[in-house]
Amino acid sequence: MRHYLTVLGLVLLPICCTASFVTDCAALSTLLPGKVFYTNSTVYDSSVKSYYFVEERLNPTCIVRPTSTSDVAIVVKYTADCPSALLSIKGGGHSPNIGAANADVGVTLDLRTLNAVSIQSGGLITSVGAGALWQEVYRVLDTYGLAAVGGRVATVGVGGLITGGGLSAFSPEHGFACDNVVNMELVLASGAIVNANETSHADLFAALKGGQNNFGIVTRFDIRSFQQPDYWGGGVEYTSDSDEDQILAFAKFKDPENFDPHAEIEQSFLYTAADNSRISSNNMFYTKPVVNASALADFTAIEPQLSNTMRISNTTDFAKEMAMYQPADTLAVYATTTFNVSLPALQSILGIWNTSVHELSHIKSLLAVLTFQAIPPVPPASGPQNSLGFTPNSHPERDLVLCLLSNYWTDASASAEIQAATQSLLEEIEAITQKDGVDVRYKYMNYAAKWQDPIMSYGTTQVEKLREVAAKYDPSGFFQAKVPGGFKLSRS
Ligand SMILES: Cc1cc2nc3c(=O)[nH]c(=O)nc-3n(C[C@H](O)[C@H](O)[C@H](O)COP(=O)(O)OP(=O)(O)OC[C@H]3O[C@@H](n4cnc5c(N)ncnc54)[C@H](O)[C@@H]3O)c2cc1C
Repeated sequence: MRHYLTVLGLVLLPICCTASFVTDCAALSTLLPGKVFYTNSTVYDSSVKSYYFVEERLNPTCIVRPTSTSDVAIVVKYTADCPSALLSIKGGGHSPNIGAANADVGVTLDLRTLNAVSIQSGGLITSVGAGALWQEVYRVLDTYGLAAVGGRVATVGVGGLITGGGLSAFSPEHGFACDNVVNMELVLASGAIVNANETSHADLFAALKGGQNNFGIVTRFDIRSFQQPDYWGGGVEYTSDSDEDQILAFAKFKDPENFDPHAEIEQSFLYTAADNSRISSNNMFYTKPVVNASALADFTAIEPQLSNTMRISNTTDFAKEMAMYQPADTLAVYATTTFNVSLPALQSILGIWNTSVHELSHIKSLLAVLTFQAIPPVPPASGPQNSLGFTPNSHPERDLVLCLLSNYWTDASASAEIQAATQSLLEEIEAITQKDGVDVRYKYMNYAAKWQDPIMSYGTTQVEKLREVAAKYDPSGFFQAKVPGGFKLSRS
C-alpha cells in the first residue's frame, strides 16, 4: 500500500506500508532523522536498560526518542496508518508487568526525552514533560519551596503514575496525583494534538485519569503546585516481634475518626528467603514541619527499632531515600486489592501472607513484601472528575485500605511458581475481605498484576463512559489494537 503521511495538516512523505517491523522503523527513520535507534547503539541499549524491572528489558525493532509533541504525532500517525505497525509507550519504565511499556517487536516510543519541567503562574502550576521522572520534578520545585502530588520514589515516571491514579505523601490532603492535573497535552489516534482540561475535551480529560494509554499519548501534564515547607518523614524498621502492635496501630490510624490530612504511611512486612528473615518497615510522612507528629506516634513508639531515619527534610531528599529501599534489577510481580479498614481482616491477611511466603522459602532470591496504605479521600464535589469510580461524597473513602503484594526475585525459573502463589494468595485475601463484608471493588491500576483488570474495577458506569470516550476520540480502536501493552479497555 502506498499513501501519504499527514500530520498537523502537512503532507510529509509518501510512505510505503509493508508487513514488516523493519520497514516501519526505516520509514520512521526517514520521517524522524536522528531520533530512531537500533539495537547495539548506545541510545537503544541505555533505553532498554532503563526499565526498572528485568522482564521489561525487551528488544523492540527500534526505539524512537521524540524531542517534541509533533514527533509523537508523527509516530502515532504512522503506526495508525500502517497495518503491520505495533507501538509500545514508555514513560519512566517502572511497570513490573511484562509488555506494559515495551515489546520484543515493533516500535517503542521512549518519552524520556520529553522531560522539561517549568513553573508557571507564580508557582501555582508546574508544566511537566510526560517522560520526566519525579526526581526531576522535585528538584525544580524544591528550589522554589514548592511541592506537587507525585510519586514517593525518585525514579518513578510521571506518565504512568499520573495516568494510573498516583499515590503520594500529599494524597491524604490533595487526593490522587491525577486529580491535581489541570491540563494534559496529548496526541490522539488520528495524530491530532489536543489539550484536555475541565473546559476543553472534559470527557477525555476525566478518562485519561485512570485510563493510562487507552485514549492518547500524554506529552505534557500541567499540575497544581503549592508552597511546601520542609516536613517530617523517613523510614523506620522493626523486628517481626512488633507485628501485632503494627497492625493495631494501622487499624487505629485508618479509623476515620483519626484522619489527619497531613499524615501518610506505607506499612510493610518483609520476608527474605535467603536468610529466612522477617522484619517490618514503615515509610511515614507528616507534611508539616512537626517532629513526632501525634498522628504517627503509635508507629514511632514501637520498639525495638532496627533503624530510624525520621527527620525534617524536603521532597527530593525523601524521594531519594525511598528509592534506596526499593529492590531494582529484579523480576517482580505487584498485585493489589482494596477493603474498608477492619482489624480482624488486617490480622488475618498478615497471618495468611506469613504462611504463604514461608512456603516459598526454597526460592532463595525471593523478597516478599506485604504493604498496607491508604486510598486517599475523594476530592471535594467541586473538584475535577476522574475515571476511578469514586463519586464525591458517595463513600467514606477515609477508611479505605490498599493492600499491595510485591514479590521480587532473580531466578527466572521461579517466575511461574511465584506468579501462581501471588494470585492464589490474593484470592485468599479477597475471600477474607468478602467474608468480613469489607471488600471494595476498586483495584489500583499502578499496583495491579497483569492478570488483574483494574479498569473493570472502576465499575460499569465508568466503563461505559470510558467506552464512549474511546469511540469518540479513537473510533478505530488504535490504542487497544496497536498499542498492546498495559491494561486495556475492552470495547464491548
Ligand atoms: C520503585 C517503584 C516505586 C513506586 N512508587 C509509587 C508511588 O509512590 N506511588 C504510586 O502511585 N505508584 C508507585 N509506583 C507504581 C507506579 O506508579 C507505576 O509502576 C507506574 O505505572 C509507573 O509509571 P512509569 O511511567 O514509570 O511506567 P511505564 O512502565 O513507563 O508506564 C506504565 C504504563 O503507563 C503507560 N504510559 C506511560 N506514560 C504514558 C503517557 N505519557 N501517556 C499514556 N500512557 C503512558 C505505558 O504505556 C504503560 O502501559 C512505584 C513503582 C515502582 C517500581
